[in-house]
Amino acid sequence: MLICDTHCDTLYTLAVHPGKPLDVTPERLREGGVSVQTLAMFVGSSPKLEDIRARFSSMVAVFEDLKARGARQVLSPAEGVEGECRFLLSVEGCDLLADGLEVLDQWAALGVRMAALTWNYKNVLATPHCVDREAPLTPFGREAVRKMLRLHIAPDVSHLNEGGFFDLLEMGAVPLASHSCAQALCGHTRNLSDTQLKKLFECGGYVGVNFYPAFLRDDGKATCEDIADHLEHMLRMGGEGKIGFGSDFDGIRVKPADLDNPSMLPHLLDLLRARFGEEITRGIAGQNLVDYYSRFAGQKTA
Ligand SMILES: [Zn+2]
Repeated sequence: MLICDTHCDTLYTLAVHPGKPLDVTPERLREGGVSVQTLAMFVGSSPKLEDIRARFSSMVAVFEDLKARGARQVLSPAEGVEGECRFLLSVEGCDLLADGLEVLDQWAALGVRMAALTWNYKNVLATPHCVDREAPLTPFGREAVRKMLRLHIAPDVSHLNEGGFFDLLEMGAVPLASHSCAQALCGHTRNLSDTQLKKLFECGGYVGVNFYPAFLRDDGKATCEDIADHLEHMLRMGGEGKIGFGSDFDGIRVKPADLDNPSMLPHLLDLLRARFGEEITRGIAGQNLVDYYSRFAGQKTA
């Protein structure tokens, strides 16, 4: 079974906090049977452009070093194989586009295949969930999204506000939410409302459910059962064939009691199999992400 994860902050941790113990290690990915691990180049929590530039350069260097030591990069989840973990590159926070749209060409050349428009700061493209709910994409943001689509970089709506989210859909983009949960089950503003989920699934988008307990339950005491609850809710919103995992490992300090790192994914999969059966579980584990990228490759925007 192909297992894919659309978000972790391991590159950031390696680049910015070298030596810090990691959730995601080659051994744990192997033990958990992960085939495609997305590695995010996370913009970081200081909004200064020169700091962001420096962080991106060091994350690129860390990734190059991993590759020199045998890590294999893929440009599509379809290149994932069972029994080996390969890596897809993403960006979390498009703040660097303040340097111009050419930055997107550099990212495409690096093999970046998804980019979250914002992290938790407003930037030249858009406004995040935690700053203003309604603010639209900027005209430059719309231009950037069009270019992302031409370059086959999927726009990622995790962290984005509702205004930007609906603008993207109205433009005809087929976005993904790489690490987001359902607001109906946990009221955090980071989570997606039922209207957002329905619209996202209707257009062919994708959601990787985040494992962060504070996004899974209002009391923050989550287990794999809560992850299954969010997936089940998304199935009810039309998410069959369009949902999977967006762990956020190495970006979250607290984790579900029974899912501390990727080596414990088989436990989650057992639970999903018992709840949804083999076929839906196989989709959630990885096939749905492969299918999203085949749909995404064909999209056109207004
Ligand atoms: Zn995030």
